[in-house]
Amino acid sequence: MRYFVGIDIGSTAIKIAIIDENDDLVGYKISASGSMFYKYAKETLADLLRSLDLTEKQIVYTVATGYGRKLFKEANEKISEITANAIGARAAAKGECEIRTIINIGGQDSKAISIDNEGNVVNFAMNDRCAAGTGKFLDVVAMNLEIGVDELGKYHFMSQGTPLSINSTCAVFAESEIIGLLGNNHSIEDIVAGVHYSIAKRIIKLVKRVGIKDAIYFDGGPALNEGLVNAIENELSKEIYIPKHPQITTAFGAAILARESYGYLQNS
Ligand code: ADP
Repeated sequence: MRYFVGIDIGSTAIKIAIIDENDDLVGYKISASGSMFYKYAKETLADLLRSLDLTEKQIVYTVATGYGRKLFKEANEKISEITANAIGARAAAKGECEIRTIINIGGQDSKAISIDNEGNVVNFAMNDRCAAGTGKFLDVVAMNLEIGVDELGKYHFMSQGTPLSINSTCAVFAESEIIGLLGNNHSIEDIVAGVHYSIAKRIIKLVKRVGIKDAIYFDGGPALNEGLVNAIENELSKEIYIPKHPQITTAFGAAILARESYGYLQNS
């Protein structure tokens, strides 16, 4: 059996997906990008191969994507994260729904991608100027509230009444706003729900720029946060599709492209 690697070097996390010739996900690994993208990417891949009992020789083609993709010199090919995300989302939802809109929230940016019925990217919009609608913002909020980022969902659903409104448009000001809310005796639960709704409103503005078409797919690390998913669904008045492994969609898409490119080279 031959195997194909997709490696997504994001601003916050490195995601690696390995698939087989049938596009089945064989394994994946997520680790922090840190300050040495290349070194950590190499180590993450070596760890993943070891855990799956695979050798480097069994990997016949590798595609790198994401913010740090240019640094991964061993990759056979490099592609933009928009293309990889679209391929991965369609494949992850295959047999369940036809994806036409992707919402991706990453560590330091957020994107809305519109795809046609053949999976081609027809439009995209990105916000990378302000951290207020990104994973970094959620990390800062969780840190200020002294809870884990993976606990935000739980606190969201414990909030009672109308979520607080968080008005700051910049993560640094939002941080002081949150500290002010704590000082005024607002609960952690209500602040968390308020943060989720403020991100949801911001992301919907971005999605409207490309047009909202069903089915809507949400990925990136923050899609693991069920509270944020709930806020986006409520603001949109629509259900959104969350894949089984939302954080690795783009790496999965890169792995599928690796399998396709390898097949093309073999046949040409
Ligand atoms: P990038 O591709 O830009 O590196 P990711 O899509 O990997 O970003 O998302 C990273 C963000 O995902 C983190 O900043 C964090 O806020 C969020 N995240 C990671 N794991 C979890 C989790 N278990 N629950 C909720 N949020 C998470």
